[in-house]
Amino acid sequence: MQVLVINSGSSSIKYQLLDPISGTVAASGLVSRIGEPVDPGAPTVEHHSDGGTVEYDGAIPDHAAGLRVVFDLFARSGHDLTREGLYAVGHRVVHGGEIFYRPTLITDAVVKSIDELSSLAPLHNPANVVGIESARRLLPGVPQVAVFDTAFFHGLPDAAKTYAIDAKTAVAHGIRRYGFHGTSHEYVSGRVAEVLGADPAQLNQIVLHLGNGASASAIRGGKAVDTSMGLTPLEGLVMGTRSGDIDPGIIPHLMRTAGLSIEAVDELLNRNSGLLGLSGVNDFRELQRLIDTGDASARLAYDVYIHRLRRYIGAYLVELGRVDAITFTAGVGENSPQVRADALADLSGFGIVVNPDRNTAKDRAARFISPSDARIPVLVVPTNEELAIARAAAAIVG
Ligand code: ADP
Repeated sequence: MQVLVINSGSSSIKYQLLDPISGTVAASGLVSRIGEPVDPGAPTVEHHSDGGTVEYDGAIPDHAAGLRVVFDLFARSGHDLTREGLYAVGHRVVHGGEIFYRPTLITDAVVKSIDELSSLAPLHNPANVVGIESARRLLPGVPQVAVFDTAFFHGLPDAAKTYAIDAKTAVAHGIRRYGFHGTSHEYVSGRVAEVLGADPAQLNQIVLHLGNGASASAIRGGKAVDTSMGLTPLEGLVMGTRSGDIDPGIIPHLMRTAGLSIEAVDELLNRNSGLLGLSGVNDFRELQRLIDTGDASARLAYDVYIHRLRRYIGAYLVELGRVDAITFTAGVGENSPQVRADALADLSGFGIVVNPDRNTAKDRAARFISPSDARIPVLVVPTNEELAIARAAAAIVG
């Protein structure tokens, strides 16, 4: 059984062909710089299959053209993406609004609703829709399923999802906290329950998804009760290029005093802030290299990142009251022992301790980094959003 998972961004498409049961990946790849001029020497498509990589370096004018090239590369590497060869296509969709709270079989009406939610996610949903439409045209006989990044947080308690702004305005414009990275938080918290050999319904968890985008969640008995991202993925933790929490008063202040348009403010906070805005780099490995050379702005960026992260951990400890596991995941969470150690430093009074040897062990599997006798287990669990999407899509079709 094979499911094709498609994650379509504004100028890129990430994809994976995998078996939803075993998780075995048959092929994967990335289409990048869609709609941009060709850059000699930089491929626009990288396709990995059967231990090899094939590159394509022609221009990719739009998403449909990108998928056509991908399907060609699949055919050349012997993978049949027609109805016989493919069980389902799973699409990652960023914003499900109030409407979508579980994986949903895609129909014309579903595509229309996802498109209508674009005002809530102008940077994401339009690209998701283009990816869905292209895949539906190219694979007319294959069932397609939308898996929403917001779904896991659909049931947030009112107190956690409500912004304290004028209630009528909020209702009129769909303003509430939706949360994102839900597929990852749900998958990782499920894996934690497996690793602990416990019933998820009995566990209270804090999950820290620290990638380029970053979010924290508090999960009680398998249900999310709080998360750091809000109406958009901009709220919460410090990220690669996003500011996370700021005083909302900064926005009108910038518009008045710096004369910035609303588009410029949006660009500033989403693309030129966070680690990049403070240090000039958004990649965590580069940040660590700069810190090692004594770069003061990189040091400050790191300190702000950790300070914000600890603030959320503290908040969720209090919200949950009893915590049974704290878990790090995604690029930074899985790979930076320094971040994990600093995020949880000096918390032994709360029963939270990181064992230095376990923390720095070179191990890719889900594992404990707290001592065996720790009151609160601390874990590193690799996320796998593609597998979670493939399983959700297969379950709907099956
Ligand atoms: P995305 O949100 O794009 O899916 P990822 O989860 O892949 O992001 O995380 C990307 C981040 O992980 C980058 O900032 C990258 O520098 C960081 N990262 C990857 N490997 C390491 C490593 N070995 N040490 C520190 N950070 C790492």
